[in-house]
Amino acid sequence: MGRPKIIQNEVQCNNCGDIIHSASVHSSVQCRCGDVMVDGGMEYLRRAGHAQNYTERSMTLNETTINELTEYIEMMIESGRNPLGIACAVIRTLRDFGLLDEKKFHPNYNDNPKSQSFVAGW
Ligand SMILES: [Zn+2]
Repeated sequence: MGRPKIIQNEVQCNNCGDIIHSASVHSSVQCRCGDVMVDGGMEYLRRAGHAQNYTERSMTLNETTINELTEYIEMMIESGRNPLGIACAVIRTLRDFGLLDEKKFHPNYNDNPKSQSFVAGW
C-alpha cells in the first residue's frame, strides 16, 4: 500500500472561518485573525495555534496510489488527451480504488452545484 502521502495540508479556523493551506514546504500561511498557522506543504503537517481553534481538513493518500495516479496522468498527457478526458480518467481511477462517494456521481444525484466547484477552492 505504501505510506501516507500528504496531498493537501489544510485547516479551517474555527474563529474567522478562513480555510488556509500550505502549498510547499516553506509556505507558512496564517488565517486572517491569527489563531492558526499551517506550514510544511506536502512534506509535513506543522500547526501553530491551539488544536481546538481549528478543524483539520488535510488529506493523505497512500504513496502507491498517488504514484500510480501521477504516472497515469503523465501517460495521458503524452498521448494528447484533453483536460476533460484526464479529469474523467482520474475520477474513474479514484472510483476503482474505492476512494469516491459514488452516489454523488450518479446521474440522478442532486446537490447544490455551488458546492461542487473545484476551481473556487484554489
Ligand atoms: Zn482565524
